[in-house]
Amino acid sequence: MQFYSTNHKAPKVSLREAVAAGLAPDGGLYMPDAIIPLPLPFFRNISDMPPKDIAYVVANTLLGEDLDPETVKETVNEALSFEMPFKRIDPEARISTLELFHGPTMSVKDIGARSMACLLRRLRGSNPAPLHILAATSGDAGSAVASAFHNMENLKVTILYPKGRLTPVQREQFTTLGGNVSSIEVRGSFDDCQALVKTASIDPDLKDSLRVITANSINVGRFLPQMFHFFNAYARMVEAGADPANIVIAVPSGNLGNLAAGLLAKRMGLPVKRFIAATNANDAFARYMATGNFEPQPTVKTHANAMDTGSPINLPRVMALYDGNLEALRKDLQTVSLSDDQIIEAIRELNDSYGYVADPHGACAYAALKQCLAPGEDGLFLSTAHPAKCPEVMTEALGHEIPGSKHTSAHNAGKPSYTSAPIFQSIKHILKTI
Ligand SMILES: *Cc1c(COP(=O)(O)O)cnc(C)c1O
Repeated sequence: MQFYSTNHKAPKVSLREAVAAGLAPDGGLYMPDAIIPLPLPFFRNISDMPPKDIAYVVANTLLGEDLDPETVKETVNEALSFEMPFKRIDPEARISTLELFHGPTMSVKDIGARSMACLLRRLRGSNPAPLHILAATSGDAGSAVASAFHNMENLKVTILYPKGRLTPVQREQFTTLGGNVSSIEVRGSFDDCQALVKTASIDPDLKDSLRVITANSINVGRFLPQMFHFFNAYARMVEAGADPANIVIAVPSGNLGNLAAGLLAKRMGLPVKRFIAATNANDAFARYMATGNFEPQPTVKTHANAMDTGSPINLPRVMALYDGNLEALRKDLQTVSLSDDQIIEAIRELNDSYGYVADPHGACAYAALKQCLAPGEDGLFLSTAHPAKCPEVMTEALGHEIPGSKHTSAHNAGKPSYTSAPIFQSIKHILKTI
């Protein structure tokens, strides 16, 4: 499979080159050059298949030319070595959820980050050259990336995070790991962190001297595996008796990586009727869908902080899948943005009416789904984080904290965090001293 840049000003590259580059040299995002439809019998049998087998078929279809089947199988098995339970929430309203937060750092990001790490390990082979993995986080990506690449040979990991925006659980999960993991607290917003990572990953000096790679959803190694959620969600819904022609999936969205992967899955034949992108008060994407004008907004802090971005980085991927045709996209996608009050209300409703404890991101998608689901449709919202990762919001909504957090806590002293202004030269200087 070749990968093209969404800016169309850089040469097409192989899988190995796309993973190693992260961002394309022209500043675009890499996308698969061909959309290979999955065979119809696959969809007929999908509800009998366990998640790892589904993921194997999808990954092999995409990457079968680049990797041998055994490597694909090992990568999938290693990356997805945890449960992804499907739960019926409201049989009458035909609403269910798929819990994607049972990995080591308790968020959906484990799936993409672990897949990228497993893939990279195999692409690098033995005796690998040194690499420096860089990721910006607004909540969950930092810990997922740090955990996935922790103690990998000849490789350093640095996480950039915005000061004061993460919950203590989210922050401790990567600042206390130690080993090859460092962190930089940036006195700025998540979008500043994201822009710094983007700049670093195409800075010629850093590329040559440190071999910097971004592990944000910019990277195809993290982006593509997110397709698994959607094939798996569809399979589990059909297995539970949903009407295969009337399935609607709500995606809690920030940078639109998950959503773009879902839309790509649809292009490969997944018969999802439509998607709903649920955003929080950071609604630049919802406004774009409504007006056709994209205006990045300053990021505001919300209860669903892993979705706090004023400038969704994967928008070019979404548009590339529709050749820039907004009308066509609107047929497949609705957008709803929810306020913090509505998120709290949704957490309470799920708890009080169905005894289901959802985290703020999943609850946001539930509320959006409820607004949009039509009679005769079966709806599923993705649950993307364990509620224990957001204790303050859960306490505000339900009056108590949620137990069950297995996060690595301060018993592991780890390295001190660096602090920096959101200025590229200072970040560059820190990276060179790490
Ligand atoms: C990252 C994240 C999202 C949003 O995913 P995007 O691909 O950035 O749109 C939603 N929920 C949680 C818990 C996340 O960590």
